[in-house]
Amino acid sequence: MKKLALHWQIFIGMAIGAAVGLPLNVLAENGVVDESIPRTLATYGKQVGDLFLRLLSMVVTPLILTSLVTGIAGTGDLKGLGRLSGWTFGYYIATSLLAITVGILAVNLIEPGVGADFETLQRTAEAEQAGGSVVTPEILEKGESLGQTLWNQLLNLIPKNPIAAMADPGNRSILAVIFFALLLGVFILQAGGRHGKVLTEVFAAGFEVMMRMTMFIIRLAPIGVLGFMLYAAAGKGLHVFVALGQYMITVLLALAVHAFVTLPLILIFLAKRRPHEFFQQMSPALLTAFSTASSSGTLPLTITCAEQRARIPNRVSSFVLPLGATINMDGTALYEAVAVLFIAQALGNDLDAAQQIVVALTALLASIGAAGIPHAGTVMMVVVLQAVGLPVEHVGLILAVDRILDMCRTSINLWSDSVATAVVARWSGALDGPSDPPPDEATGSPPDAPRPDEAEGEPAGAPAEG
Ligand code: ASP
Repeated sequence: MKKLALHWQIFIGMAIGAAVGLPLNVLAENGVVDESIPRTLATYGKQVGDLFLRLLSMVVTPLILTSLVTGIAGTGDLKGLGRLSGWTFGYYIATSLLAITVGILAVNLIEPGVGADFETLQRTAEAEQAGGSVVTPEILEKGESLGQTLWNQLLNLIPKNPIAAMADPGNRSILAVIFFALLLGVFILQAGGRHGKVLTEVFAAGFEVMMRMTMFIIRLAPIGVLGFMLYAAAGKGLHVFVALGQYMITVLLALAVHAFVTLPLILIFLAKRRPHEFFQQMSPALLTAFSTASSSGTLPLTITCAEQRARIPNRVSSFVLPLGATINMDGTALYEAVAVLFIAQALGNDLDAAQQIVVALTALLASIGAAGIPHAGTVMMVVVLQAVGLPVEHVGLILAVDRILDMCRTSINLWSDSVATAVVARWSGALDGPSDPPPDEATGSPPDAPRPDEAEGEPAGAPAEG
């Protein structure tokens, strides 16, 4: 019997999680079943999801290291690397600014905070914080300035000890691993000769093994995703969505414009790819990002989908994707701008054009500084609030609906990273470069790579996009 393609399996996992969690939540809200039932189920769901996320986290560092070193040392092309970085950073900043512009337009047009019931918002915020919030008083007190945050980001790029950086699962260490792997690739190339050849082969072999391990873990995605959906659907009372409805609609509308208009246009005109096809190729990673709310956690899936399903050459994806998971967050940047303007509106403190520009720029920088983990964007929002002189404790007003918005913005973050790989692959000429092995006609994979059907349960020879 034909096995269901991976993205369908993941989708079904998500649907089951929502179909069980949401009705239970409604029943509990109406007093038909005890409140503790959906909450307990949500806790179990999160535990299952966390197991899956940990497996993915386990492979992130070795995958980045082997993939990047192979990408650089394997191509033998240092000049290409400079071009690649230029295109990548240019794309990242341009698309984040586009996303922020859409968000600011939406919040000015819809004005979700004007006339909002501030008392209710505050009661919801207090209840949220009493229930153990992600933004703790310590975080608010610590209140690093934006300059300090960015300086720390730069400083942490250079690991004091690369082995320790690889051992630390935090976000900053990912940047450090990227930096070290880049240098390693460059100097393996420079060493050349017998040593260069041996090391290039060792890393290439390591990469192949890590890809296989990743593909094995990816088979568990439908279960992990089911757990996370259960957590999201059953974990929070539905009444909070009423008070923050307009705000949520504003964020979701703006995210939708970025995802379904701006990025597809970029894909058509700059990457010369069909958006629906590319979307389908990246869908396992997009669905996983949605459920886990973590770009860094989803990274192994993103790399696998880009290389195995969308035929992006390793030397592009190995550089663009890890960097993107850490610093390119269009969804987060958009969300931070909307949230800060919403809070200002709710406080009756409308920001003028100059202040909105400050919000836009700080939201961009804060999104660069945010880690690819759940709720990181909300924590970083404190610096945007500070930049326009708003009280930072008001970040609490929007926390109650943060998980669901986090899921949406994380998939947009990942969608933008994916479009970046397609654009950079075309612009840098990597798609027709001589050093990439020709893809296997039937699977779209380089001859040495594990076949996609091994991970996706599709019959050998089926089109990669299933
Ligand atoms: N969860 C987001 C991500 O991993 C970051 C954020 O909180 O906005 O991309």
